[in-house]
Amino acid sequence: TERTLVLIKPDAVARGYVGEILGRIERKGLTISALELRTAPTDVAATHYAEHEGRPFYPSLLEFITSGPLVAAVIEGPRAIAAFRQLAGGTDPVEKAVPGTIRGDFGLEAQQNLVHGSDSVESAEREIALWFPHLASR
Ligand code: ATP
Repeated sequence: TERTLVLIKPDAVARGYVGEILGRIERKGLTISALELRTAPTDVAATHYAEHEGRPFYPSLLEFITSGPLVAAVIEGPRAIAAFRQLAGGTDPVEKAVPGTIRGDFGLEAQQNLVHGSDSVESAEREIALWFPHLASR
C-alpha cells in the first residue's frame, strides 16, 4: 500500500465540492486515513510549494492557497499516488484535464484547479510530514 497527500484547495471548499471530491476518492477504492479542514499558514504553504519559488505564478499561488479553508488529507491504497492523480486530471483543467476527472469536470483555471496530489513517494512523505507531522514515517 502507498500513501499520498491530497489537498482540496480553497476554491473547491468555497464552491462546496468537498463531499463530491471525497466521494470520488472513496468510490475509487482508496482509503481516507487522515482528514482535516484548516486554513494554511503562509509558512506551510511556502514549504509545500517551495519547488515553485521564483516562478511568475508563485506569489499569487501562495495568496490563493492561504485565502481560506482547505481540506488536507492522507489517502491510502495500492498505487494511491498515481490513482489520485488519475482522478484529479492534468494541472490545467481545460488544456490538460479531460472530462471525467475532478479538474476536467469542475475547473476552468490553471491556478484554481481544485485539488493537489503528491507526485512521487518522496514528495508524499515530505508533504505528509509537513501537513500531518504526527503521521511522518521518519
Ligand atoms: P498540484 O501540485 O497542485 O497537484 P500539479 O502537480 O498538477 O499540481 P504543478 O506544476 O506542481 O502542478 O503546480 C502546482 C500548482 O501551481 C498547480 O496545481 C496550480 O494550482 C498552480 N499552477 C501551476 N501552473 C500554473 C500556471 N501556469 N498559472 C497559475 N497557476 C499555476
